[in-house]
Amino acid sequence: MTTQQIDQKLFSFELFPPKTEEGMEKLQIQVKKLARVNPLYVSVTFGAGGSTQHRTFQSVEWLVSEGIEAAPHISCISSSKAEIVEMLDRYKNQGIRRLVALRGDLPSGTGLGGRGELNYANELVALIRQEFGDHFHIEVAAYPEFHPQAANAQADLKNFQRKVEAGANGAITQYFYNADAYFRFVDSCEQMGIHIPIVPGIMPITNYSSLSRFSDACGAEIPRWIRKRLEAYADDVESIRAFGVDVVSALCQRLLEHGAPGLHFYTMNQSAATLKIWDNLNLSR
Ligand code: FAD
Repeated sequence: MTTQQIDQKLFSFELFPPKTEEGMEKLQIQVKKLARVNPLYVSVTFGAGGSTQHRTFQSVEWLVSEGIEAAPHISCISSSKAEIVEMLDRYKNQGIRRLVALRGDLPSGTGLGGRGELNYANELVALIRQEFGDHFHIEVAAYPEFHPQAANAQADLKNFQRKVEAGANGAITQYFYNADAYFRFVDSCEQMGIHIPIVPGIMPITNYSSLSRFSDACGAEIPRWIRKRLEAYADDVESIRAFGVDVVSALCQRLLEHGAPGLHFYTMNQSAATLKIWDNLNLSR
């Protein structure tokens, strides 16, 4: 890719808010390393169960103080409309212009529904537009391998379309390792008249057991050939990381070459794997 093509791509990073002061200090070191590649924005996740909401705010506050464009995630499943509007007012006053709007997942065992008045992310997007007009740039979630609770693939696409029609400006996908699932998803969206940028979510591979657990829960498939190789490495962390960087760099390369509008890295609050992939892709601007 030429420098101009790279400049037009949307590169972003995702963090989760640390639980402790020590975690926050470690995160700040990692973010300063990630900031060297000049991402468009850094997003911060939000615990739908309510446990991390204040910490999301604090992490966003710190990013803003460092001059980094921050995009808080906001979910609707466990908050009233008034609570959501109050939080968005605080973000607006903080100078935030970009949000990732989600339904959210409640911690297991609580069942769906929560205390929220809004059931789905399209309703959250509509509320944000109703209360704040075009102030916020809104990203929503997309699922190339389909959301685990969707009735079927077509229904999930329809539900995605609802979020776009409610006013989403862009989408970030759940992570995947099958590039074809992404290309087909984008094709289906285009056929449905959806033309917003759909940025692939990229999960670096650094630890097999946690990746495997998380993938089962969120409906992302780890292809058999990748699983088998990772299983064979067992506790050999160095080999897992080296293999992971190779596989994910090749995935990113293919996605960008075939028209993906950018990449959103799930950094898991670590910079090393993301920056190695970045360097392999020669993306420095
Ligand atoms: P929705 O778009 O509302 O969809 C949820 C399910 O409901 C889908 O199966 C959909 O097909 C179905 N559906 C939607 N509308 C309707 C309707 N009107 N009628 C019937 N069915 C419908 N979770 C967090 O808790 N905090 C985070 O910070 C967070 N960040 C994320 C970031 C990204 C980029 C992604 C991809 C996911 C993130 N998640 C986060 C996880 C997300 O909250 C879950 O995947 C959640 O289960 C769905 O959220 P959603 O916004 O996609 O929901």
